[in-house]
Amino acid sequence: METHTVQPAGVIELIDVSKIYRTGPIDVAALRNVSMRIDDNEFVAIVGPSGSGKSTLMHILGCLDVPTSGVFRLGGHDVQDFDENHLADVRNSFIGFVFQQFNLLAYLPAWRNVELPLVYAGAGAQRVKPAERKARAMAALETVGLADRAHHRPGELSGGQQQRVAVARALVTEPAMILADEPTGNLDSTSTADVLALLDDLHASGRTIVLITHEADVARHAQRTVRVHDGQIVPDGIVGATPVAPATIGDLR
Ligand code: ADP
Ligand code: MG
Repeated sequence: METHTVQPAGVIELIDVSKIYRTGPIDVAALRNVSMRIDDNEFVAIVGPSGSGKSTLMHILGCLDVPTSGVFRLGGHDVQDFDENHLADVRNSFIGFVFQQFNLLAYLPAWRNVELPLVYAGAGAQRVKPAERKARAMAALETVGLADRAHHRPGELSGGQQQRVAVARALVTEPAMILADEPTGNLDSTSTADVLALLDDLHASGRTIVLITHEADVARHAQRTVRVHDGQIVPDGIVGATPVAPATIGDLR
């Protein structure tokens, strides 16, 4: 596993963030007045039922989408002030994404899939040269334990191996933050354990990890769990819909 440390992600802050989708006849409030903070090198799980707004939250954290209102601050910068080019730079250099569907290109061998973020990164003199791209892709595959599968296409790999290739692809740019949206949702328990162990290692090497899941077992890998329900964050200590006031708990003793 990696021994070097990464450039810090800095603090991530959402202040009163809402996201309204205005696509059909009715507006959908996917996030409603969400405020949260993720410290540098935290490992946070975001949990909630289907449709609760987890992916929407990840898209905002990952600069794939912008809030309808509120403030999203990344390392002290107000992201809503960034233009599309700047957002793309932040995404490419700072954030690694892992999705439930591995999103690998079927016609490319593993190492070609892994090098893709480097193909898109940088322009002019900052372009990463092909030989370096290949070396870095191979090193990332080594990190996820798949150096010997570099020339296999996705269809020749198991689901767990495909997701490890996707983790290698997320790593190849040396991102400070990994955003994983239900990364184990399509995996059996052995492959789930492999992918979670990789996320643990990436956390230990200094990265900030945000893991979205609806499985409690998976969330237990994180240092902290943030619960989302119906587009809102459920305050700590409240489990289920009916909060129990501390006084009531005292009375029961
Ligand atoms: P989760 O990831 O927790 O399942 P999502 O963030 O995907 O939840 O969705 C939250 C809500 O926003 C859902 O009601 C969903 O139907 C709606 N939604 C998500 N994406 C879009 C979109 N692009 N356009 C319209 N509605 C959307
Ligand atoms: Mg989702």
